[in-house]
Amino acid sequence: MAIASSSWVASANDPESDFPIQNLPYGVFLYRETAHLGVAIGDQILDLYTCADHGLLSSLSREVVSACRARTLNPLMSLGRDAWSALRRQLMALLDAGYEKKRDVEALLIPMKDAIMRLPVDIGDYTDFYASIYHATRVGSLFRPDNPLLPNYKYVPIGYHGRVSSIVISGSEIRRPCGQTKAAAAEAPVFGPSKSLDYELEIGILVGTGNSPGHSIPIDKAEEHIFGLCLVNDWSARDIQSWEYQPLGPFLAKNFATTISPWVVPLEALSPYRVPAFERPADDPAPLPYLASSSREKDGIDLTLEVYLQSEAMRQQQMPAMILSRGNLRDLYWTIGQLVTHHTCNGCNLRPGDLLATGTISGPAAGSEGCLLEKRQNPEPLRLPTGETRTFLEDDDEIIFRAYTQRSGLPRIGFGDCTGRVVASQACE
Ligand code: CA
Repeated sequence: MAIASSSWVASANDPESDFPIQNLPYGVFLYRETAHLGVAIGDQILDLYTCADHGLLSSLSREVVSACRARTLNPLMSLGRDAWSALRRQLMALLDAGYEKKRDVEALLIPMKDAIMRLPVDIGDYTDFYASIYHATRVGSLFRPDNPLLPNYKYVPIGYHGRVSSIVISGSEIRRPCGQTKAAAAEAPVFGPSKSLDYELEIGILVGTGNSPGHSIPIDKAEEHIFGLCLVNDWSARDIQSWEYQPLGPFLAKNFATTISPWVVPLEALSPYRVPAFERPADDPAPLPYLASSSREKDGIDLTLEVYLQSEAMRQQQMPAMILSRGNLRDLYWTIGQLVTHHTCNGCNLRPGDLLATGTISGPAAGSEGCLLEKRQNPEPLRLPTGETRTFLEDDDEIIFRAYTQRSGLPRIGFGDCTGRVVASQACE
């Protein structure tokens, strides 16, 4: 198929736009109080429900048309890769600059600024991994300076099961959690608001087709099961975490809130931006055979990830958000395919709409740390343009994640913003 180069939606052709015709990420928005599926195109949303109503999808199978009239992406996700590609081709045709009946489609666009976005997926299960060796090493060195990386790290993609009920859409307020914390010198813990609230910059893998219980997904088939990617902020209370995490791992330090971005970028849209997977140092062990992909030369994704912060004082002084870090998905030790395959290697079944997050994405360089905890290695406190300083997040701080990929001769493909503002805790009693 010839790839469309431009759209009759003028804003989609702006080189700064996250949403050119080559992207077409899926989301769910409220239309007259009803949830509709849509795709982002420039600064507009194309309503898939009304596209189906107007017969614009009639060349597609009945299952695809029916999935476009659903309230979440799950029915579409369950149909598999051929159905996803067929729908994507049809949407590209409708939005292509050369489309002759664009007036029919124009009436079905909604300005993105007027849309209220909803969680795009009914997420069944959520797993959070720990796939960045730079994050694992920096965090490990804070707790175990002599032995930062545990011996299983280079063999096992480490993860834990997260909580779905507190996953919220970008823009939702994040209430500072209450919890037990214990200062190192204190004899006993106290109960109160977390004083060490942090963000974690992650990418979410949204599972399309799943697997049957007892049947694992082979590594070379893993990506066929991935519908798309979104941004994830795994809000973390470091003081609660350090007191509770042994022996069973994260619990209340993590499960009070997780924010995801409203747009799910199809994996297919990212295919021109694939790069070699992380190059393991020569003395690292090779992955065990079930995790050894035959396509390492394109298992990575060149995706730049950025974190911005805007404090209340910055907002009042109309200062733009300040960049805190910039990293890249290609720096993960484990690939997205390896995470999927490892999750199912014991026969655990994934289902359409499951969310697997990568874990904090950090790079080797200063300035690429995907959370504030890692910045504690820096002796200088973080200084904001107002003169304020930060070790961890204060109330009314807003955190903004962005992600995009770009390559010469190809358009920018972006994820849109994933934001959350911290609000004061409830009375911790
Ligand atoms: Ca995490």
